[in-house]
Amino acid sequence: MDQLLSWGRYPYNLQTPHSIYWPDDVPQALTDSGSAGQDGMLVFGCGRSYGDSCLAESNHVLVTQNMDRVLAADWETGIILAQAGLTLADVIRIALPRGWFLPVTPGTKFVTLGGAVANDVHGKNHHVMGTFCRHVSRLVMYRSDEGVVDCSPAEREELFAATVGGLGLTGVILAVELQLRRVVSSEIEQRVIRFAGLDEFFDISQKYDATHECTVAWIDCLASGKKAGRGHYIVGNHAQEGPLELAPPGGVTMPIDPPFSLVNQFSLRVFNTIYYNSQQKKEVLSRVGYDAFFYPLDRVLDWNRMYGRAGFQQYQCVVPQQDSYEVIRAVIQQISKSGTGSFLAVLKQCGKSVSPGLISFPLHGVSLALDFPQRDHVNKRLFSKLDALVHEAGGRLYPAKDAHMSAAYFKQAYPQWERVEALRDPRLMSQFWKRVSQ
Ligand SMILES: Cc1cc2nc3c(=O)[nH]c(=O)nc-3n(C[C@H](O)[C@H](O)[C@H](O)COP(=O)(O)OP(=O)(O)OC[C@H]3O[C@@H](n4cnc5c(N)ncnc54)[C@H](O)[C@@H]3O)c2cc1C
Repeated sequence: MDQLLSWGRYPYNLQTPHSIYWPDDVPQALTDSGSAGQDGMLVFGCGRSYGDSCLAESNHVLVTQNMDRVLAADWETGIILAQAGLTLADVIRIALPRGWFLPVTPGTKFVTLGGAVANDVHGKNHHVMGTFCRHVSRLVMYRSDEGVVDCSPAEREELFAATVGGLGLTGVILAVELQLRRVVSSEIEQRVIRFAGLDEFFDISQKYDATHECTVAWIDCLASGKKAGRGHYIVGNHAQEGPLELAPPGGVTMPIDPPFSLVNQFSLRVFNTIYYNSQQKKEVLSRVGYDAFFYPLDRVLDWNRMYGRAGFQQYQCVVPQQDSYEVIRAVIQQISKSGTGSFLAVLKQCGKSVSPGLISFPLHGVSLALDFPQRDHVNKRLFSKLDALVHEAGGRLYPAKDAHMSAAYFKQAYPQWERVEALRDPRLMSQFWKRVSQ
């Protein structure tokens, strides 16, 4: 297996992979000095985290993708127990023809169950279903100081709460028990509403979040003045009748590693204007497959390479509800002024559901996520302005996407971090955790 990087390819720290196939491989892989056998290792799923939270301090990672078996499944209740390297794409492949779907899914299906647990991921239905780990009933783990242990919301609760959203630090997750969600069709009834600015986003969000399980907005991050925050609001519900069909596999691949980023001020402005105007009607209703609705980015495999060799960073923050309008407006203004950003800028209203993890990211409020080509000075200057706005409002940044947050900022935003540190497996340490906790 080739050496590995995180999704943003920044920081550019190559990881030496050590594949595990069976749970029995784990103790040796963690301790054997032939493979790495040192402190500061980490587990690696599909590497869909953007920054340094999936990079090991030692640059040696245990890769779980071959530990991907379903161990038990009850198709009456929709509860499955599967090894942690199984991807969400595989869960869908197995469960959807039987009338079950993921209760919560991030914007890519190329994520392992272990990775989804370790970041307690959220999706378009956060305001209805909460985070992924609200649907996880049990974890089987290996800890270098204890061996194999089970934890759940009722058994070893502290270990469970530290592990879900715990950034892979509390042990190697071997298996995950998950409650799936019933569906009668693989299709989604989608409605896309064009909105002219941030005021309208908040009005629409209030109206449609009450009637739709899935909601998310694309915004034009370069639009300014009255148009600031304009975009498309995309909402959907699982259809109540229709086929239960799997989407065909595949997608196109980025053929080359361009030497520079294909995303720049010019391409961004052209794309955003064309995309915003691609829908002339105020509202368009359609029925789409689950793949097009939940995973549009998965159609271009390796799309992260379009940012060139320098890579990119994603900035994802969540701002508490009470000040969300003013703060998100100020954040968008700063980004628009900077002239940088990405095609993909996503606004999402997060719901009130309390996340089960001690340091899970979501909180009740509005989340904004967008990518920035890696340019040291530009990003540093912009991020420090954005951080100040988010921080002052009591918001926080998503560790799964982060490569810049300071230790002071992290500790204030995630006051429970010491409870995770207390349960950290002594063999495991990420570059992110080293940066923010020590
Ligand atoms: C296009 C795209 C869209 C995305 N959309 C969303 C979104 O909507 N919502 C969201 O929340 N996230 C989103 N993400 C982020 C992604 O869902 C998370 O980073 C996810 O955790 C990645 O899982 P992975 O299997 O790739 O794990 P990795 O990125 O390889 O690792 C993530 C963490 O999990 C730990 N880990 C992995 N497996 C194990 C294990 N078996 N035991 C212990 N620890 C383990 C690692 O140590 C690391 O800390 C998106 C990412 C991409 C690329």
